[in-house]
Amino acid sequence: MSFQKEINRRRTFGIISHPDAGKTTLTEKLLLFGGAIQEAGAVKSNKIKKGATSDFMEIERQRGISVATSVLAFEYNGIKINILDTPGHKDFAEDTYRTLTAVDSVIVVIDVAKGVEEQTEKLVEVCRMRNIPMQIFINKMDREGKDAFELLDEIEQKLHLKVCPLSFPIGMGYEFKGIYNIWEKNINLFSGDSRKNIEDTIKIDDLSDNKLDGLIGEKAAKELREEVELVEGIYPQFDRESYLNGDLQPVFFGSALNNFGVRELLDCFIEIAPKPRPKQSEERIVKPDENDFSGFVFKIHANMDPNHRNRLAFIKIVSGTFKRNAPYLHVRHNKKVKFSSPNAFFAEKKEIVDISYPGDIVGLQDTGTFKIGDTLTEGEVLNYKGIPSFSPEHFRYINNADPLKSKQLYKGIDQLMDEGVAQLFTLELNGRKVIGTVGALQFEVIQYRLEHEYGAKCSYENLNVYKACWVEPTDRKNSEYKEFLQVKQRYLAKDKQNQLVFLADSQFSLQMTQQKYPSIKFHFISEYK
Ligand code: GDP
Repeated sequence: MSFQKEINRRRTFGIISHPDAGKTTLTEKLLLFGGAIQEAGAVKSNKIKKGATSDFMEIERQRGISVATSVLAFEYNGIKINILDTPGHKDFAEDTYRTLTAVDSVIVVIDVAKGVEEQTEKLVEVCRMRNIPMQIFINKMDREGKDAFELLDEIEQKLHLKVCPLSFPIGMGYEFKGIYNIWEKNINLFSGDSRKNIEDTIKIDDLSDNKLDGLIGEKAAKELREEVELVEGIYPQFDRESYLNGDLQPVFFGSALNNFGVRELLDCFIEIAPKPRPKQSEERIVKPDENDFSGFVFKIHANMDPNHRNRLAFIKIVSGTFKRNAPYLHVRHNKKVKFSSPNAFFAEKKEIVDISYPGDIVGLQDTGTFKIGDTLTEGEVLNYKGIPSFSPEHFRYINNADPLKSKQLYKGIDQLMDEGVAQLFTLELNGRKVIGTVGALQFEVIQYRLEHEYGAKCSYENLNVYKACWVEPTDRKNSEYKEFLQVKQRYLAKDKQNQLVFLADSQFSLQMTQQKYPSIKFHFISEYK
């Protein structure tokens, strides 16, 4: 197959939702369609590799939340689909934000009863900012929920989206009869039995056809006709260009658990979703069909397999082909590196691959040379723009609880920070280490992983910090800046990039400081330049 054809047949996307909306269930059903897994229940129990339930995954299992982002690939109707799974839990939102730098589109799952929830709002906002094409799947139609029109309204209001329903439910909950597919012009009747239903699709080209009354009853048929008329009157027609620009979001209804409406979603998805898109680097826009390989690290994951305690750096291929054993430039280190066993991910296994194409994700064995955001190329100096670190919201001193293991502790902390699990600050005054995270759960994850992966023990101590702000002086030599450094010495720290950070202990003190030193800028994200 030609290079261009390989690019054209790839779809790399993420599924985002508030926890419990049904992301995992939907992922699993998508994999079932691709024949990538044989039975339901496979996704949650062994996300990447069968039989390799790592210790780290154990936390995930116990807590019933998705801690890490995993990659699942499968083929469906000749299309290579790469799903980047994203944790919905808010404490792991940064992981999800970073994953969104590697997707070409997303599917947003919304629970019909709960409507738009907090995490949905935050994640959709990130997608909106980046103009990522979004498709919406309203899930759990087998349950009582909100009225379809009310929900579409809520989505437009709260998520600031412009929706375009491509299917419409016939009843809901106990009365749920099925779905009219506006896109394909057919009806799918709900039997509540997830094993059949694909064969039950009935073509209805014209809703005024009497056949409809026979299928769902006169009353429901009348209602459906009115509703679809209303849909056509209120909402814009689907327009692919608008969808690709992030200006229009098609909506599907269904029930992931019952495998209902999922095939319709998938069929439409592979038709309309974008193939790998060009990506902006600091230097220039890079197109997928360029000959030279380039890609970037969007995730680092440790300990996928407890027998090999190494790390995997996940690279999204932006352009060209990635070949096994070829020398590539690690741009930040300005060094050529080769990879003898790059991994590709499939639903139940990972495999060594010789060649990968734009849109694909490869996992590279990493002994600590990669950081989130690192770029690899064939020689050109390119730096892909990443998502910067946000100001953490929780802070604690980290102490060594086993003096004999201090080397392991520092190595562990160092690597966990490169993975982007949390941020490390070193106090200017006394060199003490402070960990900053976006969620409280990360402290437990760090402690657990330090112990199980690095054999080190840590303890935490509370510290009163309201926010960490990156400090940008307009003039390093002026007396105001010098005074600031002196007066606020107790509150100053360096991040891992050696950038100066002000740890404000309250909103009030931050305001006072900003007023007192107007020539200094205080930033809430790390990459302010
Ligand atoms: P995630 O947290 O978004 O990954 O959500 P899960 O896929 O784990 O689903 C959360 C819960 O909702 C589980 O108990 C699922 O069985 C249930 N669920 C998912 N889809 C449906 C559906 O279509 N109908 C009903 N009734 N329950 C569902």
